[in-house]
Amino acid sequence: MSSLLTSNDAIALEEKYGAHNYHPLPVVLTKGEGVYVWDVEGKKYYDFLSAYSAVNQGHCHPKLVAALTNQAQQLTLTSRAFYNDKLGVYEEKITKLFGFDKVLPMNSGAEAVETAIKLTRKWAYEVKKIKEEEAVIVVCENNFHGRTTTIISFSNDQDARKNYGPYTEGFARIPYNDINALKSVLANKNVAGFLVEPIQGEAGVFVPDSGYLSAAFELCKQNNVLFIADEVQTGIARTGRMLAVDHENIKPDVLILGKALSGGMYPVSAVLADDEIMNVIKPGQHGSTFGGNPLAAAVAMAALDIVLDEKLAENAERLGAMFRERLNDFIQTSNICSLVRGKGLLNAILINDTEDSDTAWNICLRLRDKGLLAKPTHGNIIRFAPPLVMNEEQLLDCVRIITETLKEFEK
Ligand SMILES: *Cc1c(COP(=O)(O)O)cnc(C)c1O
Repeated sequence: MSSLLTSNDAIALEEKYGAHNYHPLPVVLTKGEGVYVWDVEGKKYYDFLSAYSAVNQGHCHPKLVAALTNQAQQLTLTSRAFYNDKLGVYEEKITKLFGFDKVLPMNSGAEAVETAIKLTRKWAYEVKKIKEEEAVIVVCENNFHGRTTTIISFSNDQDARKNYGPYTEGFARIPYNDINALKSVLANKNVAGFLVEPIQGEAGVFVPDSGYLSAAFELCKQNNVLFIADEVQTGIARTGRMLAVDHENIKPDVLILGKALSGGMYPVSAVLADDEIMNVIKPGQHGSTFGGNPLAAAVAMAALDIVLDEKLAENAERLGAMFRERLNDFIQTSNICSLVRGKGLLNAILINDTEDSDTAWNICLRLRDKGLLAKPTHGNIIRFAPPLVMNEEQLLDCVRIITETLKEFEK
């Protein structure tokens, strides 16, 4: 395999011509297959980020490539001004799989979150009968739901929101994993929905106490408030179940999916809800040129089939438990890493250093040198989320690379 560009050339081009809204790890990738990616110099790596859990099915899965290329030669976009012969089939498949009456298809995760917000507000005024302009959606501290103006309005991450005002109103923020805080805020009868990540991925794979989500769901039911689960990162088998809320046997009123819904092949997102909620949106009241296009529908159907056929949830559950067990054993003997947490194959370690130190970044550079790609989040946290098609031998090889690297950083 060869590329015309060297790594340095490719990085220089992005530096000069691209907006500087990211700070990538210095590695330039040109090929991916399963759990592996290759850089332009031909070096092979384990991908331990999976494009923020978009590539659960592994890079360039042959069935996904086939679905994409076949459909691309047939029909890609009609807009929703006309029907197409893939969308309805996909809609039936995804709604039956997750047990909802209807789906509203979108492209990016942020668009799906925006859709869920609009749906919740419309439901609040037209079904719950909250006075117009007064609906409140409750969100959590340290949430990450995307990058639109409204979504960053209710973020408390200064990088994400500073100088992007004026901000969208109508949100109340409470601490995550704090059921009493939710109880208090629900005293406000204008609350229409509770938007929550079942595990906070971007915040550093923060797993709430067992029972928190089901208790929150119960409180929402008691108060006629919609429970809106943002499973853009946690969904599609990542945490060892098809959905992270499946660990607590709850069915959200509004379910938001994205990322691995397309296996990383194409931007596909979705909002699922039952008729009583979804039917408040009528023709002309919401949409997107690309949302629900036949290419997206074909890709998403194949992506879901792969997850089921290859039992990726079961694999994530088993390998995730093994990963945490091995790293916990290592932590007993080490002073560089203080904690491993997560569910399924969505995990993170806490580096024993201050949040503003560059230790986690340096560890990721060293992991890269040893053939494994991961990225720090929030300074001293490193997220580990490989494609779910990984096997046990590969996982143990990765545990070896990670623990050997961490040892080098011991004080
Ligand atoms: C990534 C993510 C989003 C946003 O998805 P985009 O496709 O980047 O717009 C929303 N919610 C959660 C929980 C995410 O992890």
